[in-house]
Formats: sequence, structure tokens, C-alpha cells
Amino acid sequence: MRVPVIAGNWKMNTTVGEAIELVNAMLRELDAVDSVDKVLCPPFVSLSAVKELIKGSSIKLGAQNIYFEEKGAYTGEVSPVMIADLCEFVIIGHSERRQYFSETGEIVNKKVKAALKIGLKPILCIGEKLEENEGGRAEEVITEQINSSLAGIEYPGELIIAYEPVWAIGTGRAATGEQANETIGLIRQNMAELYDNKIAQDLRILYGGSVTADNTAEFMRQPEIDGALVGGASLKADQFLSIVRQTSEIRQVK
Ligand code: PEP
Repeated sequence: MRVPVIAGNWKMNTTVGEAIELVNAMLRELDAVDSVDKVLCPPFVSLSAVKELIKGSSIKLGAQNIYFEEKGAYTGEVSPVMIADLCEFVIIGHSERRQYFSETGEIVNKKVKAALKIGLKPILCIGEKLEENEGGRAEEVITEQINSSLAGIEYPGELIIAYEPVWAIGTGRAATGEQANETIGLIRQNMAELYDNKIAQDLRILYGGSVTADNTAEFMRQPEIDGALVGGASLKADQFLSIVRQTSEIRQVK
């Protein structure tokens, strides 16, 4: 049984004070939901404060990015060692990083390696752009992203993959449950070919892209989907809580 994961990617939102407010607005109720891994990914500057607030609870912490070097003259970067000191998870290869910060497959690969080496659990984001989807190239793009992100990695450890079609992120235009389930099934098949069937079956693969409290159930009822990476809706305590609760309920009967 794969334990579902609901991860909230706050992106570049919330001051430290606002982050504390957001956590306090859902802390107790979120903590009470079982059968789901609940992961908050606030901005770097709020990690320590959020870590302190969730101490002793079942809520887990993730970062939104890391650099791949351990330390040194890399002004402005944050190393895997620093993040491992605070977090269990780290988002790697988000499409916004690929798009706005020129992250290539090679860079993503170095980051995944660095995270696994230090014991961080990567949430590796992959997904095709709109034109790639419309050109019937989604499968090809996803296969290439898996191969380049995991090149030279013999064992992916506690990797999580988030399938995030770029056209669905922050657009309000989510994929359908069936579409996401089919692509996630292909990702699992790819992982079975790259590694083995056991690794592929144990791997948690999330859907991400305009997930809200209103469409969560459609995704969570799908057999291949093991949770969600949630952007916009993770900034609203009631929405995030509802997504987590629905996932827990659906999962009990799935
Ligand atoms: C994301 O940031 O990974 C994401 C899926 O965003 P949104 O839920 O806002 O589409």
C-alpha cells in the first residue's frame, strides 16, 4: 500500500509572519488526519519557523529547491546539507524553475543525486508543456525527463514523482482524472523499465496542476494517483485541509 502524499508548494508567497499564521490556521486539524503524508513547503526563510510550529505533529516539512553543491562560494544558494538539517522533503525540477531559472535535465539530475546522497526525499516534478501535449509528444517528453533526471542513479530511494502538466499549473485548467491516471501509469511503466517492477509499484506518483478542494476527489479515486502537489490551494487553510481530508477518506476505500 502506497501512503498518499499531499504536498503544499507555497511558492514565493508568505512572509514569515504570514507563514506562521497559515500554519496556525490549520495545524491541529491537519495533524489529526491520518493515512496521508502531509507536507508543507514554505519559502526557505520560513522553514525554521514552520519547523518549530509543527514540532511533535504528524506534519512534515519540505523545501522548494536546493543547490547541488554541499557548500562554498555560491552566493544566494541553499545547500542540501542545510535543507537536510530542517526538512524531510525537497521539490526538485519544478516547471517554474525549469522555465524561469533555466534548469536543465542535467541540473535537475545533479540536484536529485545531491538530495538522495544527504537523505532528503526528492519530489521530482516532470510534465509536458501545452504545445508538447497538443503535438502528441507528452509521452516522449516525460520519458526524456525521467531518463535525464535519474541518469546514473542506481537506486532512487524514497523518491516521489509529481506529474505536473505545465499547462495545468496555476491556470485553473486541471487535467482530468483519467488523463492524469493514464500518464501516471506510463510514468510507473517507465520506472519499471528503468529500475524494476517492485520499485515502480512502491513509488508514489502525485498529480499536480490546479488541484482544489472541488476536484481532489476526481484525482484521488484514480488507482495510479498517490496524492497531489498543490500550489495555489495550499495557501488557503480550509482548501488544503479539505484536500487532505478527502484524500484520507477516499484512500480508505480505494
Ligand atoms: C505547483 O505549484 O506545483 C502547482 C501545481 O500549482 P497550482 O496548484 O497552483 O496549479
